[in-house]
Amino acid sequence: MVGNWKMHGRIGDNATLLTEVAAGASALQKGVSVGVCVPCPYLAQSQALLSGSVVRWGIQDVSAHTGGAFTGEVAAQMAADFGVTYAIVGHSERRAYHLESPELVASKAQRAIEAGLTPILCVGETLEEREAGTTEQVIGTQLEAVLSTLTEEQAAGIVVAYEPVWAIGTGKTARPGQAQDVHAFLRRKLLEKGATVANVPLLYGGSVKPENAEELFGQKDIDGGLIGGASLQSKEFLAICRAAQTVTH
Ligand code: PEP
Repeated sequence: MVGNWKMHGRIGDNATLLTEVAAGASALQKGVSVGVCVPCPYLAQSQALLSGSVVRWGIQDVSAHTGGAFTGEVAAQMAADFGVTYAIVGHSERRAYHLESPELVASKAQRAIEAGLTPILCVGETLEEREAGTTEQVIGTQLEAVLSTLTEEQAAGIVVAYEPVWAIGTGKTARPGQAQDVHAFLRRKLLEKGATVANVPLLYGGSVKPENAEELFGQKDIDGGLIGGASLQSKEFLAICRAAQTVTH
Protein backbone atom coordinates (compact mmCIF):
# COMPACT_ATOMS: atom_id res chain seq x y z
CA MET A 1 0.00 0.00 0.00
CA VAL A 2 1.71 3.16 -1.16
CA GLY A 3 0.69 6.71 -0.39
CA ASN A 4 1.30 9.41 -2.98
CA TRP A 5 1.31 12.72 -1.17
CA LYS A 6 1.58 14.66 -4.44
CA MET A 7 2.51 18.33 -3.72
CA HIS A 8 1.14 18.34 -0.20
CA GLY A 9 2.78 18.53 3.20
CA ARG A 10 4.55 20.94 5.52
CA ILE A 11 7.37 19.93 7.79
CA GLY A 12 5.35 20.20 11.02
CA ASP A 13 2.28 18.33 9.76
CA ASN A 14 4.45 15.66 8.13
CA ALA A 15 6.03 14.75 11.43
CA THR A 16 2.65 13.84 12.89
CA LEU A 17 1.50 11.99 9.77
CA LEU A 18 4.71 9.97 9.37
CA THR A 19 4.84 9.04 13.04
CA GLU A 20 1.20 7.95 13.09
CA VAL A 21 1.55 5.94 9.88
CA ALA A 22 4.66 4.20 11.23
CA ALA A 23 2.89 3.32 14.48
CA GLY A 24 -0.24 2.05 12.70
CA ALA A 25 1.68 0.08 10.09
CA SER A 26 3.65 -1.78 12.76
CA ALA A 27 0.35 -3.34 13.91
CA LEU A 28 -0.47 -4.71 10.44
CA GLN A 29 0.03 -8.29 9.36
CA LYS A 30 3.37 -9.07 7.75
CA GLY A 31 1.79 -9.59 4.32
CA VAL A 32 0.98 -5.89 3.95
CA SER A 33 3.85 -3.60 2.92
CA VAL A 34 3.43 0.14 3.39
CA GLY A 35 5.22 3.04 1.72
CA VAL A 36 4.80 6.80 1.31
CA CYS A 37 6.01 8.84 -1.66
CA VAL A 38 6.69 12.35 -0.40
CA PRO A 39 7.78 15.62 -2.03
CA CYS A 40 11.60 15.75 -2.46
CA PRO A 41 12.30 18.33 0.27
CA TYR A 42 10.84 15.89 2.81
CA LEU A 43 12.93 12.85 1.91
CA ALA A 44 15.40 13.61 4.69
CA GLN A 45 12.57 14.03 7.19
CA SER A 46 11.02 10.74 6.04
CA GLN A 47 14.36 8.99 6.40
CA ALA A 48 14.81 10.40 9.90
CA LEU A 49 11.32 9.47 11.09
CA LEU A 50 10.76 6.17 9.27
CA SER A 51 14.18 4.50 9.54
CA GLY A 52 13.77 1.44 11.70
CA SER A 53 10.01 1.33 11.10
CA VAL A 54 8.19 -1.02 8.70
CA VAL A 55 7.25 1.90 6.43
CA ARG A 56 9.39 2.62 3.37
CA TRP A 57 9.55 5.98 1.64
CA GLY A 58 9.78 7.01 -1.97
CA ILE A 59 10.05 9.85 -4.45
CA GLN A 60 7.26 10.87 -6.85
CA ASP A 61 9.38 11.25 -9.99
CA VAL A 62 13.04 11.05 -11.05
CA SER A 63 15.02 12.62 -13.85
CA ALA A 64 15.73 10.64 -17.01
CA HIS A 65 19.34 11.84 -16.61
CA THR A 66 22.01 10.80 -14.12
CA GLY A 67 23.22 14.34 -13.49
CA GLY A 68 24.33 17.56 -15.13
CA ALA A 69 22.74 20.78 -16.40
CA PHE A 70 19.10 19.93 -15.78
CA THR A 71 17.88 22.71 -13.51
CA GLY A 72 15.15 21.67 -11.13
CA GLU A 73 15.45 17.95 -11.77
CA VAL A 74 16.35 15.32 -9.19
CA ALA A 75 18.48 12.30 -10.11
CA ALA A 76 17.49 8.85 -8.87
CA GLN A 77 20.91 8.53 -7.26
CA MET A 78 20.24 11.66 -5.20
CA ALA A 79 17.05 10.09 -3.88
CA ALA A 80 19.00 6.92 -3.11
CA ASP A 81 21.26 9.03 -0.86
CA PHE A 82 18.20 9.44 1.39
CA GLY A 83 17.44 5.74 1.69
CA VAL A 84 14.56 5.84 -0.77
CA THR A 85 12.95 2.54 -1.82
CA TYR A 86 10.36 3.61 -4.41
CA ALA A 87 10.27 5.99 -7.36
CA ILE A 88 6.91 6.68 -8.98
CA VAL A 89 7.38 7.10 -12.75
CA GLY A 90 4.79 7.99 -15.37
CA HIS A 91 2.12 9.32 -13.00
CA SER A 92 -0.70 10.67 -15.15
CA GLU A 93 -0.14 14.17 -13.74
CA ARG A 94 3.43 14.04 -15.11
CA ARG A 95 2.27 12.62 -18.43
CA ALA A 96 -0.46 15.27 -18.78
CA TYR A 97 1.12 18.45 -17.35
CA HIS A 98 4.75 17.78 -18.24
CA LEU A 99 4.09 16.02 -21.56
CA GLU A 100 6.07 12.94 -20.56
CA SER A 101 6.14 10.38 -23.37
CA PRO A 102 6.17 6.60 -22.82
CA GLU A 103 9.84 6.64 -23.92
CA LEU A 104 10.79 9.32 -21.38
CA VAL A 105 9.00 7.35 -18.66
CA ALA A 106 10.99 4.28 -19.72
CA SER A 107 14.28 6.22 -19.30
CA LYS A 108 13.16 7.33 -15.85
CA ALA A 109 12.37 3.74 -14.86
CA GLN A 110 15.81 2.72 -16.10
CA ARG A 111 17.56 5.45 -14.06
CA ALA A 112 15.59 4.41 -10.98
CA ILE A 113 16.62 0.77 -11.36
CA GLU A 114 20.28 1.72 -11.92
CA ALA A 115 20.16 3.66 -8.64
CA GLY A 116 18.74 0.65 -6.80
CA LEU A 117 15.20 2.06 -6.51
CA THR A 118 11.99 0.18 -7.28
CA PRO A 119 10.02 2.01 -9.97
CA ILE A 120 6.27 2.19 -9.48
CA LEU A 121 5.17 2.52 -13.09
CA CYS A 122 1.79 4.22 -13.45
CA VAL A 123 -0.35 3.46 -16.46
CA GLY A 124 -3.89 4.54 -17.22
CA GLU A 125 -6.36 5.75 -19.80
CA THR A 126 -8.32 9.00 -20.01
CA LEU A 127 -12.12 9.00 -20.11
CA GLU A 128 -12.04 9.75 -23.85
CA GLU A 129 -9.73 6.80 -24.45
CA ARG A 130 -11.97 4.48 -22.41
CA GLU A 131 -15.09 5.64 -24.23
CA ALA A 132 -13.31 5.17 -27.56
CA GLY A 133 -12.59 1.55 -26.57
CA THR A 134 -8.81 2.05 -26.62
CA THR A 135 -8.03 1.35 -22.94
CA GLU A 136 -5.97 -1.79 -23.59
CA GLN A 137 -4.15 -0.22 -26.51
CA VAL A 138 -3.17 2.87 -24.46
CA ILE A 139 -2.12 0.90 -21.40
CA GLY A 140 -0.36 -1.74 -23.48
CA THR A 141 1.71 0.97 -25.18
CA GLN A 142 2.61 2.62 -21.86
CA LEU A 143 3.65 -0.72 -20.35
CA GLU A 144 5.50 -2.04 -23.38
CA ALA A 145 7.59 1.15 -23.72
CA VAL A 146 9.10 0.37 -20.31
CA LEU A 147 9.24 -3.43 -20.50
CA SER A 148 11.06 -3.32 -23.85
CA THR A 149 13.99 -1.48 -22.21
CA LEU A 150 14.30 -3.91 -19.27
CA THR A 151 15.76 -7.38 -18.90
CA GLU A 152 13.41 -10.03 -17.54
CA GLU A 153 15.17 -9.81 -14.18
CA GLN A 154 14.79 -6.02 -14.05
CA ALA A 155 11.15 -6.23 -15.11
CA ALA A 156 10.42 -8.73 -12.35
CA GLY A 157 11.56 -6.11 -9.81
CA ILE A 158 9.18 -3.30 -10.72
CA VAL A 159 5.71 -2.42 -9.42
CA VAL A 160 2.90 -1.45 -11.80
CA ALA A 161 0.00 0.81 -10.80
CA TYR A 162 -3.17 0.99 -12.86
CA GLU A 163 -4.62 4.44 -12.40
CA PRO A 164 -7.51 5.36 -14.68
CA VAL A 165 -6.99 9.09 -15.24
CA TRP A 166 -10.73 9.73 -14.86
CA ALA A 167 -10.67 8.26 -11.36
CA ILE A 168 -7.69 10.18 -9.92
CA GLY A 169 -8.68 12.83 -7.41
CA THR A 170 -12.18 12.93 -8.89
CA GLY A 171 -14.01 10.84 -6.31
CA LYS A 172 -14.96 8.46 -9.15
CA THR A 173 -13.61 4.97 -8.61
CA ALA A 174 -13.40 2.28 -11.25
CA ARG A 175 -15.92 -0.46 -10.49
CA PRO A 176 -14.02 -3.40 -8.99
CA GLY A 177 -14.81 -5.51 -12.06
CA GLN A 178 -13.61 -2.77 -14.41
CA ALA A 179 -10.34 -2.47 -12.52
CA GLN A 180 -9.93 -6.26 -12.40
CA ASP A 181 -10.35 -6.52 -16.20
CA VAL A 182 -7.48 -4.10 -16.75
CA HIS A 183 -5.33 -5.78 -14.10
CA ALA A 184 -5.90 -9.15 -15.77
CA PHE A 185 -4.83 -7.61 -19.08
CA LEU A 186 -1.68 -6.19 -17.43
CA ARG A 187 -0.92 -9.58 -15.89
CA ARG A 188 -1.14 -11.24 -19.32
CA LYS A 189 1.19 -8.61 -20.83
CA LEU A 190 3.67 -9.07 -17.98
CA LEU A 191 3.57 -12.83 -18.45
CA GLU A 192 4.65 -12.36 -22.08
CA LYS A 193 7.88 -10.85 -20.70
CA GLY A 194 8.49 -13.88 -18.49
CA ALA A 195 6.97 -16.10 -15.82
CA THR A 196 8.66 -14.19 -12.98
CA VAL A 197 7.47 -10.85 -14.38
CA ALA A 198 3.85 -11.95 -14.08
CA ASN A 199 4.27 -11.81 -10.30
CA VAL A 200 5.02 -8.09 -10.08
CA PRO A 201 2.69 -6.33 -7.63
CA LEU A 202 -0.21 -4.68 -9.47
CA LEU A 203 -1.63 -1.70 -7.57
CA TYR A 204 -4.91 0.04 -8.25
CA GLY A 205 -5.09 3.81 -7.82
CA GLY A 206 -7.94 6.28 -8.22
CA SER A 207 -10.06 7.60 -5.34
CA VAL A 208 -9.45 4.59 -3.09
CA LYS A 209 -11.10 5.19 0.30
CA PRO A 210 -11.71 3.00 3.36
CA GLU A 211 -15.26 2.38 2.08
CA ASN A 212 -14.27 0.91 -1.28
CA ALA A 213 -10.85 -0.56 -0.46
CA GLU A 214 -11.90 -4.05 0.58
CA GLU A 215 -13.92 -4.74 -2.55
CA LEU A 216 -11.18 -3.42 -4.83
CA PHE A 217 -8.40 -5.35 -3.10
CA GLY A 218 -10.58 -8.46 -3.11
CA GLN A 219 -10.20 -8.67 -6.89
CA LYS A 220 -7.96 -11.48 -8.02
CA ASP A 221 -5.31 -9.40 -9.79
CA ILE A 222 -5.35 -6.33 -7.53
CA ASP A 223 -2.44 -6.72 -5.13
CA GLY A 224 -2.56 -3.34 -3.45
CA GLY A 225 -3.23 0.35 -3.87
CA LEU A 226 -1.59 3.64 -4.78
CA ILE A 227 -3.42 6.11 -2.59
CA GLY A 228 -3.45 9.85 -3.24
CA GLY A 229 -5.81 12.08 -1.25
CA ALA A 230 -6.61 9.49 1.40
CA SER A 231 -2.91 9.02 2.23
CA LEU A 232 -2.75 12.53 3.69
CA GLN A 233 -4.67 11.50 6.78
CA SER A 234 -3.23 8.69 8.86
CA LYS A 235 -6.66 7.46 9.96
CA GLU A 236 -7.89 7.05 6.38
CA PHE A 237 -4.64 5.63 5.05
CA LEU A 238 -4.34 3.10 7.87
CA ALA A 239 -7.98 2.08 7.45
CA ILE A 240 -7.20 1.32 3.79
CA CYS A 241 -4.10 -0.65 4.83
CA ARG A 242 -6.22 -2.64 7.27
CA ALA A 243 -8.75 -3.39 4.53
CA ALA A 244 -5.91 -4.96 2.53
CA GLN A 245 -5.04 -7.38 5.31
CA THR A 246 -8.55 -8.77 5.46
CA VAL A 247 -8.31 -9.93 1.84
CA THR A 248 -6.85 -13.21 0.74
CA HIS A 249 -6.41 -14.30 -2.87
C1 PEP B 1 -2.75 9.25 -7.21
O1 PEP B 1 -2.43 10.42 -7.21
O2 PEP B 1 -1.92 8.40 -7.54
C2 PEP B 1 -4.12 8.89 -6.80
C3 PEP B 1 -4.52 7.65 -6.92
O3 PEP B 1 -4.91 9.89 -6.25
P1 PEP B 1 -6.34 9.76 -5.53
O4 PEP B 1 -6.28 8.57 -4.60
O5 PEP B 1 -6.50 11.06 -4.80
O6 PEP B 1 -7.36 9.57 -6.61
